[in-house]
Amino acid sequence: MRRARFWAGCPVRPTFRKQMPSPLPKGADVKMRPASLNPLFASLRDLNGVGERLEEALGRLTGATPDQPPRVINLLWHFPTGVIDRRERPAIADVVSGNLVTLNVVVKAHRAPPPSVTRAPYKVICEDDTGRIELVFFHADRRYLQRMLPVGERRIISGRAQAYGKHLQMTHPDHIAPESDQEAIPLLEPVYPLGQGVSQRAVRNAARQAVARVPDLPEWLDRDFVAAQDWPAFRRALEILHMPRDDIDMAAAGKARKRLACDELLSSQLALALMRRRFRRLSGRATTGTGERASQIRAALPFKLTGAQERAVAEILSDMAAPHRMLRLLQGDVGSGKTLVALLAMAGAVEAGGQAALMAPTEVLARQHYKTIAEMGAAAGLRVALLTGRESGPGRETTLKAIKQGQADIVVGTHALFQADVEFRDLALAVIDEQHRFGVYQRLALQAKGNGGVDILVATATPIPRTLMMTHYGDMDVSVLDEKPPGRKPVTTRALPVERIHDVIEAVRRTLKSGAQVFWVCPLVESSDVAPATAAEERAAHLRQHFGDQVGLVHGRMKGADRDAVMNAFAAGELGVLVSTTVIEVGVDVPNASVMVIEHAERFGLAQLHQLRGRVGRGAAQATCLLLYQGPLSETAEARLKALRDTDDGFKIAEEDLRLRGGGEILGAKQSGDPGFRVARLPEDSEVLEAARDQVKLLLERDPRLEGPQGAAARACLYLFERDAAIRTVRAG
Ligand code: ADP
Ligand code: MG
Repeated sequence: MRRARFWAGCPVRPTFRKQMPSPLPKGADVKMRPASLNPLFASLRDLNGVGERLEEALGRLTGATPDQPPRVINLLWHFPTGVIDRRERPAIADVVSGNLVTLNVVVKAHRAPPPSVTRAPYKVICEDDTGRIELVFFHADRRYLQRMLPVGERRIISGRAQAYGKHLQMTHPDHIAPESDQEAIPLLEPVYPLGQGVSQRAVRNAARQAVARVPDLPEWLDRDFVAAQDWPAFRRALEILHMPRDDIDMAAAGKARKRLACDELLSSQLALALMRRRFRRLSGRATTGTGERASQIRAALPFKLTGAQERAVAEILSDMAAPHRMLRLLQGDVGSGKTLVALLAMAGAVEAGGQAALMAPTEVLARQHYKTIAEMGAAAGLRVALLTGRESGPGRETTLKAIKQGQADIVVGTHALFQADVEFRDLALAVIDEQHRFGVYQRLALQAKGNGGVDILVATATPIPRTLMMTHYGDMDVSVLDEKPPGRKPVTTRALPVERIHDVIEAVRRTLKSGAQVFWVCPLVESSDVAPATAAEERAAHLRQHFGDQVGLVHGRMKGADRDAVMNAFAAGELGVLVSTTVIEVGVDVPNASVMVIEHAERFGLAQLHQLRGRVGRGAAQATCLLLYQGPLSETAEARLKALRDTDDGFKIAEEDLRLRGGGEILGAKQSGDPGFRVARLPEDSEVLEAARDQVKLLLERDPRLEGPQGAAARACLYLFERDAAIRTVRAG
C-alpha cells in the first residue's frame, strides 16, 4: 500500500505562502530541531506586547498562512528598509530648521488654546541655555501632556524642528523621555515596511525581541570565506540590520544582508543536493500500459493531437515503462494542451493497474481539471475523484475510501492530496500542474517523496531556457510542447497609459455588448499601507458604476467558497467582468472571455504578463489584451511591454525575460508577489548563489552525513530556513 504521506513534509512553505496551505503537517520534525532554535519557532504571541490583533497583522505582514500561524522567525526576515537618524543633538540655538534633532530641554510652560478655539494647537514651551522651542500638539490630550512634560522638569525630545519667523517649533515630537531614560530614545531607529494594523513602534518592538532570541550559532559557512568577504556572523548580521548602533553598523548593512542571503542560498542548495542524492538512490518501477484506455480517449476527441503532444506522450510513456523513477518536466506555453498529455500519461498508469494523481496549485484549478479530466476520461471509463481541502464529512470519507480501495483511478486535487489520511491503493504516477505557483523546492522535494517509485510529471507553463534548467533543476528530463493546437489566433496586445482608462471602459462596454467576457486584473499592492485587496475592490466598485452587477470580484482574502461562487458565476457567463488580484486563479479556463485588462502592467514580470494574457484567446473570437500602465515607464518596463506586443511565443518571451531580468526571477515566484526566497534576491545575489553552491560541494565532500561540527552547523541553517525535509533525507540515507 502506498501512502501519500511520504510526500508530506516538503520544504515548500516559503514558495506559496500566500496562496495555499502548506502540505507540511504542523510542527513537522520539531523533535529533531536543535532546542536552541525553538524560541524562534514559537508563536508571535510569545513576544511581549503582541496580542491577538497584532499577531494577526504581523502575520499578514510577514506572510503567514491560515495553517501556519506567524512565528517569531518570520520577523527576522522582515527587514527595515531604512534608518531614522536622531543622532543630531544640537543646542537649541544651533538647530537647523527642517532637521531631525534630539534636544535636551527644560519644560517651561503649557499653553492651552482658549476654549473657544478648539482647533488651535496646545503648546508646550521648552528651553535650554541657548534658546527656546515650542512643542505643538493638535487634538491634544492635556492630561497626557501634563504627565509627559511637567513644568520645571528636564526632558529629551526628538523630532523635526521647524523655524517660523523667530519661533522654533516641533510639531508632535516622535519621542519624549525623561533625561534619566536616555535609552528610551533610539538614536538610530529602523524603519520597517508596514501593513494594516501595524505601527512602526510595534514592529520595532517585536523585531527587537525576535533578534534577542537568536542564539549564538556555530558558523556553517567556510570561515576563510566569511573572513575574506568581511561578513558578520549570522546573529550579528541580524543585529546590524534590525538594531544598528552606529555608522559602522549602518555601513555594514549591505554585507549583513549578503551574508544572510548566502545563508539562505546555502540552505536551498544544500537541500537540493541532499534530495538529489536521495533520489538517485531510490529505485523505480516499470509501468507499462496497454494503450487501450488511451485509444478510447483519443477516439472521443474532436481534434487530433499536435505533433508536439504526440512526442511528449511517447517520451513520458517510455519513461514510465523504464524501471527507473521518472522525474519529467512537461513544458508548454499556456494553451499548448498540457492537460491532455497529462491525461494520456495517467491513462497509461491506470492501464498498468495503478492509480494516478493530479495536483493543482489552487482549489479552482483543481475543480476545473477535475471537470476536464472526468469528461475526457469518461470515454475510457476512467473513474475520477476530486479531493481538495474543501471536501469534508461523509463525502470526503467516501472519496478517501475509493482512493484507498482503488475504486478511484485518477484523483485530482490540491495539497489536500498530501494529507496523512490520504492513502492510495497503488499510486503509480503523480502529475503536478504548477502554473507558475510552485517553487523550485517543491519540485525538488518531490524527488525525495514517494515510495517504491511513484513516477512524477511536472507540468509547467513557464518556458525555461536550458541553462537555467540545469542550474536550478539539476538533471530533470524535459518534454516540450513547442507547437500550439491549430487555429489559434494571436491575442491583439496594446499598451495604454492609465489616463486612457475611459477608452478601456468603452472597449469593455463593446465586448459585453457582443456577449463576450472580460478579465480585469489588478496587481497586489506590495507596499505599506494599502491592503492587497483594496485596489481590486476599488476598481470593482468603479466598474460597477458603469456595468452594474455584471461585475464580479475575487481576491485572496475572500473565503474559498465565496471565491468559487464568483468564479463559477463568471465561468457560467452570469458575470461579464471579473476583477481580480493576481493571487487569483490565473489558470482558469473561460473560453468566452476575450478581453484581458491588466492594470499597472508595469509592475508585472514579463512571464507573468504572458501567462495572464494566455487566459484569453481560447475561444473563437479575436481576443485582446490591454495593458494599462502608469507612466513614466522604466526602460525595462518599456522593453517588457514591447516584447509582449511583439510576440506571442512563450519561449521567445522567456528568453527576453531572462535577458531583461536575469534568471532567478523566472524561476522564483517573486513576480507573482510570492516570496520564493525571504532574503536572497536573484539575479542580484547570483554571485552569492555561486559561492553557496561551492560551499555545499565542499561541505558534502568533507562531511557527507553532516555529522562533523560544520555539518551540524549546516543542519541548523537548514532548520532556520525550514528545509526540514532535506534533513530527513540525510537520516534516511
Ligand atoms: P494548457 O494547460 O497547456 O494551458 P490546455 O490543456 O488547458 O492547455 O488546453 C487548452 C485548450 O486546447 C483546451 O480547450 C483543450 O481542449 C484544447 N486542445 C488541447 N489539445 C488540442 C489539440 N491537439 N487540438 C485542438 N485543441 C486542443
Ligand atoms: Mg492547463
